[in-house]
Amino acid sequence: MTFSIHGLAVARGIAIGRAVLVASSRVDVAHYFIEPSQVDAEIGRVRAGRNAVVDEIHRLQQSIATMGPKEAPHELAALLDVHLMLLQDEELISGVKRWVTDRLYNAEWALTTQLEVIARQFDEMEDEYLRERKADLEQVVERILRHMKGVASPVAPPPSHRRPSSPRQQDLLLDDDSLDVPLVLVAHDLSPADMMQFKQSVFAGFVTDVGGKTSHTAIVARSMDIPAVVGARGASQLVRQDDWLIVDGDAGVMIVDPSPIILAEYGFKQRQGELERTRLARLRHTPAVTLDGQKVELLANIELPEDAPAAVNAGAVGVGLFRSEFLFMGRQGNLPGEEEQYQAYRRAVEGMQGLPVTIRTIDVGADKPLGGNERDSAHLNPALGLRAIRWSLADPGMFLNQLRAILRAAAHGQVNMLIPMLAHASEIRHTVALVDFARAELDNKGIAYGPIKLGAMIEVPAAALMLKTFLKYFDFLSIGTNDLIQYTLAIDRADESVAHLYDPLHPAVLRLVAETIAECNAKGKGVSVCGEMAGDIALTRLLLGLGLRSFSMHPAQILAVKQEVLRADTQRLAPWAQNILQAEDPGQALGA
Ligand code: PEP
Ligand code: MG
Repeated sequence: MTFSIHGLAVARGIAIGRAVLVASSRVDVAHYFIEPSQVDAEIGRVRAGRNAVVDEIHRLQQSIATMGPKEAPHELAALLDVHLMLLQDEELISGVKRWVTDRLYNAEWALTTQLEVIARQFDEMEDEYLRERKADLEQVVERILRHMKGVASPVAPPPSHRRPSSPRQQDLLLDDDSLDVPLVLVAHDLSPADMMQFKQSVFAGFVTDVGGKTSHTAIVARSMDIPAVVGARGASQLVRQDDWLIVDGDAGVMIVDPSPIILAEYGFKQRQGELERTRLARLRHTPAVTLDGQKVELLANIELPEDAPAAVNAGAVGVGLFRSEFLFMGRQGNLPGEEEQYQAYRRAVEGMQGLPVTIRTIDVGADKPLGGNERDSAHLNPALGLRAIRWSLADPGMFLNQLRAILRAAAHGQVNMLIPMLAHASEIRHTVALVDFARAELDNKGIAYGPIKLGAMIEVPAAALMLKTFLKYFDFLSIGTNDLIQYTLAIDRADESVAHLYDPLHPAVLRLVAETIAECNAKGKGVSVCGEMAGDIALTRLLLGLGLRSFSMHPAQILAVKQEVLRADTQRLAPWAQNILQAEDPGQALGA
């Protein structure tokens, strides 16, 4: 039966494929395709893992047989029996075999996929006792996975394991079991670190139950240029493993089990999107200049040094925001030291082939936890807590490592250093002093470094209201509209339940943005926008009209924004933008 689930549109385009349900706690298992010749070896790994757990339980049973009821209560023996029964259930291994043989999933992926299939059956059981056995099943699968970790896969994941994302629609309709069918990942939640491991993945689309439009999970999905919908509440419960899905990343809708007519309609839309991309690709080498001759700088936002080639290919004239925190995430506390960071920044600088690179110092906290999968729940209000520069200043040793690494990378090309989330003059002075100290340390050790421009992000209303102080200390400013909106409107950017109130066109937000641009222009200081507003073509003309000439966005958005720039006349846009700024409802005035 066809039905649809509405969420938030976060990454453009249409994906059509089969659902792969992944439990949030297991997104870290590897997902890649194997060669047909490797099928037996992969199934063998799961069997070996399962047998090892069976042996473990047998040993446990023997040892508790010698204990009294106090040390080994009857419930424990019963639980072990249940675990054995679940392990020996044919459905587990036969399902794994099917996923490996028919779909060429690697062993861990096949096992967790089959876990989801059986778990769903447990969920649907009427008997409460049986329903609760799902937790036992999850435990035994967890143990199998742990054993499999000790046995390395003979099959290394290929460098790029993504399947074709847009086979012809007719092929999909005719050949339901084709191995080339794209896959859509459906999960309750994905952390930014999880998303990073899907950067080179097999998935053609993403859907999550939770998340806001500018949550970092959504931002990474957008940077991957893969259709995605977040905040699609209930999706991971309502979709079944292997269901056919359409992800409409423009409208923020997921359609489950579409009829042939709907499939054909979306297949058409998908091809239209591809044609549009091909057309836009012709603008790659066209300079971004408005009709009235204003030069506009279109820069790229990147997460890793390896993203640099995509930025150059998209025609970016530099990196306006390198979110360095992604180098630090998912490393279980083993943070990169100065040398590792230096090498990474240097790779990014060299990857940009002489174009400038703006490296933002680490911005962790809130929805970007360093280690685990979940949001920082240790603090009452992590978005207002020890995040970004506050975190750096609280650990000067770590911060100095990063400052030295960035200064050293500046010896290899044009580097700007950008500081996130400053709000206090004392923080500014402290930061500037630490940058000077890092230089002095390098001087003392005789280590080479290069000149940098120092910039600050305007992300907190307080910062936008004290521009004079910022402009005294910094060479340039970059407006982080994602956080500026969050903090001006008191809306958690990662919370889909208040997403309807997250409004880039709120008059208060626009005023802070407009005044920051105007003040920098008046003082001859560089200013750019590097939040998601910069890549939204519905806002390009407004930002140009407000005087913005530097935009930083995901590489995939650059050409569409360039097209808007080429069609714009800033002389006409300037008075129009001032009118929008004065409107009670700028969104309505803009027709957005
Ligand atoms: C922003 O807040 O607009 C920004 C660019 O930083 P981030 O999205 O990484 O918080
Ligand atoms: Mg920010």
